[in-house]
Amino acid sequence: MSERPAIPRELRRRVLLEAGHRCAIPTCRTTPVEVAHIIPWSKVKKHEFKNLIALCPTCHTRFDDPHNPLDRKAMRQYKANLNPLLSLSVSKKGDQIMRIAAYQDFRMKVGTWLRSAQALGLVKSKRRSTAQGIASAEKEVNERFADALISGLDFNSSWKGTYAEAIAGAIFYHIADWVDELFDSEFPAPRKLAKRDVVDELSEASINLHLAVCEEVGILEAEDTDAAAR
Ligand SMILES: [Zn+2]
Repeated sequence: MSERPAIPRELRRRVLLEAGHRCAIPTCRTTPVEVAHIIPWSKVKKHEFKNLIALCPTCHTRFDDPHNPLDRKAMRQYKANLNPLLSLSVSKKGDQIMRIAAYQDFRMKVGTWLRSAQALGLVKSKRRSTAQGIASAEKEVNERFADALISGLDFNSSWKGTYAEAIAGAIFYHIADWVDELFDSEFPAPRKLAKRDVVDELSEASINLHLAVCEEVGILEAEDTDAAAR
């Protein structure tokens, strides 16, 4: 009854390269790996890079367990967090290493800034928080913002004129808007504002940024060409 076609070899190869031939779940990272669909094949009926992820057999089984599936959103985040640097062959690293390093730095600094804002939201939404506690959380956010801004400017100059630059900008301003609201809000801050799930709001943009970087750097295509030439 299976009408499901096999995943094309080159596509499979890209997915494995994307994860550095290791399980994409950050706490696992074991080998060997299989290629899994984030949204099940039975729903999408196609094999697409953006919907595929490398998982070890154990995580793959857990992910597909109908009674206790791993969270699909988390899975997309794991894909978004994969490091394209891992899939660069040594000979290609020279050209792209600075750009990918700028990308990794941007993700890291923005993530830290976002977590500091979440911490501020928590402090500001609790009635028993002190003015001093709030001031110290705000100071932390401002410092992490400064790091993220520098990293963002660095990213923009490495990725000028690309789709990745546009998405990164959108992510940055999305967070900045929320942080502004947090700073301006009354005390205690409304829970709805303080506990906004900004990570979830950004999950689509986050995966799109990852895909744009993978595409722009052209590592996957370059690797494919090498393979074809061999
Ligand atoms: Zn695993």
